[in-house]
Amino acid sequence: MNVYDGWRIAAMLTHHGLTQTDNIPDADIIILNTCAVRAKATDKVFSALGRIRRAKKPSALFGIVGCVAREAGSDAFRRIPDLNFVLGPQSYHKLPEILKDPDTKLLNIDLGGLEKFDELPQMTHSPSVAYIPIQEGCNHVCTYCIVPYTRGRELSRPYADVIRDTIHAAKTGAIEICFLGQNVNGYKYTDENGKLFRLSDLIRETAKIPEIMRIRFTSSYPTEMTDDLIDMFKSEQKLLPFLNMPIQSGAQNVLKRMNRPYSLELYCDIIHKLKIARPDIQISSDFIVGFPGETDEDFEQTMKIAEQIKYINSYSFKYSPRPHTAAALMPDQIPENIKSERLAKLDSYLNSVQRAFNESCIDKTLECLLEGPDKTGKHLVYRTPYMQQCIVPTPTDGTAPKLAQIKITAANKASLRGTLE
Ligand code: SAH
Repeated sequence: MNVYDGWRIAAMLTHHGLTQTDNIPDADIIILNTCAVRAKATDKVFSALGRIRRAKKPSALFGIVGCVAREAGSDAFRRIPDLNFVLGPQSYHKLPEILKDPDTKLLNIDLGGLEKFDELPQMTHSPSVAYIPIQEGCNHVCTYCIVPYTRGRELSRPYADVIRDTIHAAKTGAIEICFLGQNVNGYKYTDENGKLFRLSDLIRETAKIPEIMRIRFTSSYPTEMTDDLIDMFKSEQKLLPFLNMPIQSGAQNVLKRMNRPYSLELYCDIIHKLKIARPDIQISSDFIVGFPGETDEDFEQTMKIAEQIKYINSYSFKYSPRPHTAAALMPDQIPENIKSERLAKLDSYLNSVQRAFNESCIDKTLECLLEGPDKTGKHLVYRTPYMQQCIVPTPTDGTAPKLAQIKITAANKASLRGTLE
């Protein structure tokens, strides 16, 4: 979501006649787009702003956008007085105001809902993968999560707007569409005639666009995985056989305190149904270890569910207490050393499964989407249907299909190697 926001900001400023640079001393405006989900990222923001302040030319404008901006508010100006702007994740479309009047201090951390999507220009150039946001915010209120505070209540974008953006992306080069939302499979939009649209409707309509060959969505909440959506994996072959559906913990009592009140039976049942709909589907998850009150036994339950489901790719984190969340105030916060031990154990297992899955792809031919050349220019980077990175030698004649059949020849934990067929 943040990467998408960054592109959108870049597209907006390009529209205002600016060009992009990664070199701070060259820049006339420097924008730090921030994430507040865990403390580590937030903690780095103010030291990064200090570094930017020293490296930039004196006349250059600088500031923060995104979730840390919303959390810090006017306090950011107190900490760094020469900061020019502080804009929350739903007000970065107001950024050009600072270009008009560089002497003001621009502060806007309001939850403007979907307003930013109306104000921002459509991106003129799409890469092969177009990220299409279909909702903002989240209504689930997981007790560890700061997102409902920083991005507000859940709002689904009008169906017609999403389809318009998807067609635009297809006409400007997109082959793959990734629908984005904090609770993406909970997408629900009722139009003026009272007709309800869900994510399955968006997928069905998008699959009809000839240029679009691959569809995916992230990230999903388990209980929103309704049968109409599961059926899409059977009926729409353009929907990739890969799903990120975070479980967070394998202990029922921990899930309850996380305010994720699904039963583990239900979660496993959904996976079972998905596998019936699409036998080659693979699942990825997010995990939090060391949630307040998590016992050794609870953690073992998490290991057990990981062993049972065999996620091919996962994101695992130590629980990080966040402001404005209920879990930060819970008793029995887990000491850092125990969190680190549990994370190391879980990661080691998850990595071994990921490596085994990557190795199981050797000798198979997978249809992959071109991402671009690697740093050396000698290789091309493709993505498999399971989002694995696959590296192939750049063809000597310089031609490379955007969508290619690739025979996998080698694998490690992080990536695959292959040859164009
Ligand atoms: N809507 C997404 C959340 C995005 S944040 C979802 O729930 O699927 C991405 C991941 O960060 C979450 O899935 C969770 O595993 C992790 N996360 C969120 N808050 C956290 C916290 N306070 N400490 C550690 N990890 C956290």
